[in-house]
Formats: sequence, structure tokens, C-alpha cells
Amino acid sequence: MIDNTTILTTEKLDVERIRKDFPLLDQEVFGQPLVYLDNAATTQKPLLVLDTLENYYREYNSNVHRGVHHLSQVATESYEAARRRVCEFINAKSSNEIIFTRGTTEGINLVAYSFGKKYIKEGDVVLISAMEHHSNIVPWQIMCEDRNAMLKVIPMNEKGELLMDEFEKLVENNPVKIIAVTYVSNSLGTVNPVEDIIALAHKNNIPVLLDAAQAIQHLPLDVQKLDVDFISFSGHKVYGPTGIGILYGKEKWLNEMPPYQGGGDMIKTVTFEKTLYNELPYKFEAGTPDVSGAIGLAAALDYVSNIGIDKIAEAEHELLIYGTDALSSVKNLRFIGEAKNKSAAISFFIDGSHPFDVGEILDKQGIAVRTGHHCTQPVMDFFNIPGTVRASLSFYNTKEELDKLVIGVERAVKVLS
Ligand code: PMP
Repeated sequence: MIDNTTILTTEKLDVERIRKDFPLLDQEVFGQPLVYLDNAATTQKPLLVLDTLENYYREYNSNVHRGVHHLSQVATESYEAARRRVCEFINAKSSNEIIFTRGTTEGINLVAYSFGKKYIKEGDVVLISAMEHHSNIVPWQIMCEDRNAMLKVIPMNEKGELLMDEFEKLVENNPVKIIAVTYVSNSLGTVNPVEDIIALAHKNNIPVLLDAAQAIQHLPLDVQKLDVDFISFSGHKVYGPTGIGILYGKEKWLNEMPPYQGGGDMIKTVTFEKTLYNELPYKFEAGTPDVSGAIGLAAALDYVSNIGIDKIAEAEHELLIYGTDALSSVKNLRFIGEAKNKSAAISFFIDGSHPFDVGEILDKQGIAVRTGHHCTQPVMDFFNIPGTVRASLSFYNTKEELDKLVIGVERAVKVLS
């Protein structure tokens, strides 16, 4: 049973008005109004973000940190203001701790490569969990292979909850050098007890990286309160553009870690004999960055802040409970991921029907869901299924849309049985 106790804020969201901010939602697919339930893959963009991007390219497109000319200075100031906006959004201590990346994947690769190079030796252990996205598995495997280190996995139960007793044993009985876990699982919806994970890790002097790809858009995230060492997330999952992401790292780590890529901007001086690297955050930003992406991401964070992340969490929780209840009446449907603490994703499998076929039938009714392994093949192996159908929610979704999903799934079951 999902915990359905939520903190009630005073005012509900005006979803009808909010949907007007997202022009893409107002269209038909195969003659039916679009029902977009693939928000964990990517979110739609509000007008504020679209207008900000257009304005950048129309009015002040220019390279940053390089030009003395006016446009370059305006672009640089906006790019750095975007960094300060991200800093404020996640309550980092300093904007030196905010590195612009291409997305969650690149942020994790950066830490695996750079932290690994500096701190991981033969026989050391990197700890991840059983519900990680491939992007929080493969970079560590590559690094462990390179350093002759070992990757170990925190197991989970049938509900999709981490086994914290096993986690404790793994931490206490192994030379663990870093723990990398997802805050919210993209395929199960589980919200992991990250405060407990960080507390136990720090008791043993182990830093923690949180994959926040599915957390940043759904939950309040305060890096100082969490005392987390690294987080990585993608702009496109929090109503911003694709191609931009954030790696947050405590300055004490980032200062010690070697650069991940070499090139322009990340240097102080270069000779053929020796290069002096730039200070934070530029040491980790080689080459021309995604200037428009950074500025667009800041606009997205403004949009989310204007609505209020607490209100978003509350509205999405209500949708999660409603959708889960409604789907539970469908014959042969089995939920995959029944953790007590869940956020915004409903994954299910229908005995006797392949998820892909269910997804195709839903598509013909204008309903966009994701089917497959969701880049979490080990999760599918654990449940012994080829994949799931996943409906992933945003505050702009409605209960009526979830009713359509249920009707659509029932239709699919009828056709496929
Ligand atoms: N981790 C999780 C939990 C995700 O859901 C995703 C995106 N599906 C990623 C990492 C990777 O994000 P990106 O492809 O934007 O780098």
C-alpha cells in the first residue's frame, strides 16, 4: 500500500490554467486528445522556457567567458545567473559547486571517472543499488574495471524497497569508497530513504552520489539539509531543455578531483609543457557550454518555483493514489513497484500481454506511455518480466486522463487476451 498521508497545503493547483502554459499538450493524436503520461522520460516545456530560448537566440546569442563585446557579456551574465539560480533552487552553499553538464548521465560519468581516478584503488568497493538506471551502473563498471575495484549492489524486496539491513552489512564489511544510489526509481517509482543512506555512509566516512533524475521535478531537494556529496540531474526532466544537466558536488571533493575533459575554458594557462587548470566550476566545463540550455533551465526552475514544489508534490501524490486505485481493478494487472514511499510513476505488467503491445494499443487512443525495461534491465530480471508499461505523472495531468488510461488498458487486455 502506498502511504497516502500527504501534507495538505491550503490551495489546490488550477490545472486547467496550468495546462495553457504547455502548448504541446493541446493536440490530438490519432484523432484523440493527447494524454501525455511519459513524464519520467521527458517533461513538456512551459511557454516561459520556450520564450526564454527564443529570446536568447533572437536577442543575445553569443559565446560566453570569451568576448569583450557587449553581446558576449550579456550572454555570460545570463549564463552565470542561471548557475546562481540552480544554486538557490537546490540550496547549495556556493555556485562553484554547480557544474553544467549534458544531463544526469554525464554528471555520473564525470564523478565515476574523476573521483575514481583520484580515490579508487585495487580491491576497493563501489556500492550501488538493485534499482539503478543503466547510467548509474555502467559508468561505475567501466571505472571499476579500470581500477580493479568491485561493484556491489544493495538488494531490494518484492515491493521494490531497498533492504536497509543488507545495506548496513555491505557498508560495514567492505572497503566502500563511494555509494551511488537513485533518489527515486524511474521504473518502480520508489522513493529511497536517502537521509538514512547518507547518515550511515557518513558515519563510515563514505561520500554519497544521488541520481536525482526523477527527484528534482517531484520533491523538495536541499543539498545542505541532506548533506549529500554529489547529485546529478537533467534539465529536460524538470521542464527545461534537453542537452543540459547539473552536477552538484561539495567543493571539498570537486577541488581535489582531476578534470574530466580538457579544452577551452577549463584552463588558466597552457604551454606545450604544462597546463594549469581553471578554478571551480570552470575546471569541469571544457569547451563552449550549452548557453541557451542553461538559461532555459533557469527559466524552468523559475516556473517550478512559482507553482511551488510542495504543491507539485501534493498534486502528483493525489494523482498517483487515484491512478493506482483505478488501475487495480484491471484483470490480470500486476503492479511492479509497490513501495510504501512512491513518487509519480505507476509501472505494471499484464499477465499474458507483452508491454509493447499494450503500449501500442494505448498509443492508438492518444495515450503516451513508455514500455520496456526503462534502462533498468536488472530490475526486470529481478521481477522476471520483459518490461513494464509505465504511466509517469506530472502536475499537469488530470484524473480524467487517468480514467482514459484505465479504459485504454482494459481495451488492450480485451484485444490481447
Ligand atoms: N537516472 C534516472 C533515474 C533516470 O530516470 C534517467 C532518465 N531516464 C537517467 C538517469 C538518465 O538521464 P539522461 O538520459 O537525461 O542523462
